Amino acid sequence: MNKATKMVHAGLEPDPVFGALSVPIYQAATFEQETVGHPVGKWAYGRGGNPTRHALEVALAEIELGRYGYAFASGMAAIDAVCAILTQGDRMICTHAVYGGAYEYFRTILPGRGVSVEFADCTSLDELDASLQQGARLLWIETPSNPALTILDMDAICQIAHRHGVLVAADNTFATPYLQNPLSFGVDIVMHSCTKYLGGHSDVIAGCVVVNDRALSQTIFHHQAVTGNVAGPFDSWLVLRGIRTLKVRMQAHCQNAMQIAQKLVGHPKIERVLYPGLPDHPGHELAARQMQDGFGGMLSIVIKGAEAEARRFAESTELFTLAVSLGGVESLIGYPPASSHRPMNPEARLAAGAPPNLVRLSVGIEDADDLLEDIIHALEAV
Ligand SMILES: *Cc1c(COP(=O)(O)O)cnc(C)c1O
Repeated sequence: MNKATKMVHAGLEPDPVFGALSVPIYQAATFEQETVGHPVGKWAYGRGGNPTRHALEVALAEIELGRYGYAFASGMAAIDAVCAILTQGDRMICTHAVYGGAYEYFRTILPGRGVSVEFADCTSLDELDASLQQGARLLWIETPSNPALTILDMDAICQIAHRHGVLVAADNTFATPYLQNPLSFGVDIVMHSCTKYLGGHSDVIAGCVVVNDRALSQTIFHHQAVTGNVAGPFDSWLVLRGIRTLKVRMQAHCQNAMQIAQKLVGHPKIERVLYPGLPDHPGHELAARQMQDGFGGMLSIVIKGAEAEARRFAESTELFTLAVSLGGVESLIGYPPASSHRPMNPEARLAAGAPPNLVRLSVGIEDADDLLEDIIHALEAV
């Protein structure tokens, strides 16, 4: 079945009681047992499992072309679950170009558990090979990356990592399962912040993990059930509903972002437009190979000038709302040092490809001309 069809149908089984097409929100903490230890249905207690969450988890696995899906209370909770595979004495490598919250988690939480974390430039396969030579349990990548839209070669990276016996986890939040499926490039673990494109309407905080390997799935399920960082029934339902329209939303996001990126190239107030769809983007060819049907809805603008100019631009748009987050139908603008990449110091931000004059745009599904006009007008204020 084609992926676009799966997005509309995944996880949908006719409701056994009334035949409702929409998966019911089973707002239930517990479920009756017929005899001791034998619940009426499949579920006993809402932390271990819930029918609405289960429908979402089935859908997530299907659209990410994996076997096992797990839904969490947030993207960060999903990252925490992935890191449950790490134990004392393990070493982990992470790409420089990573979401600030993940960076903060890896640097401040993992060392306390006896896990050492190092950062590497994963666009350089030689550097990556050298750093994996010393052995590691996990490699964390993100492509396209937040906010620099750095593209990583998943196929080549997984080959190197697997040669060293290292598992690869990929944050696929920016691309979404509609544009890219990391598992099909050899990645072992896929993670999403469902808060972004999967939810798609800026009204829910949630996350997910999808894997193919049974042993990995058991570790992640165990962590989910024991720590209880689960997506609630209503939040699960919102993400499930978001997935139904992922295809048409992503098509609109991609189209708008491409159009805006192309028209902003060469603007006198702009030093560089970072968008993988532009032929001069260093990851363009790779992105064209890895991302089907489009280059995503995120683009970053490096403004001529410094921090002050970038802040002024971010504060001057009207249609683009100044807010943390991304991936909703409405356009947002953000200044990473004050939002997604606040936990990083300026050096780490530079290594992540985010200089102080970079502003990030989450291009929504509004009319592209209106959005472009808003940007051009805001640039006049810089
Ligand atoms: C937002 C985000 C996260 C964290 O997700 P939350 O749902 O906010 O916890 C992780 N990775 C990326 C790329 C993100 O944009």
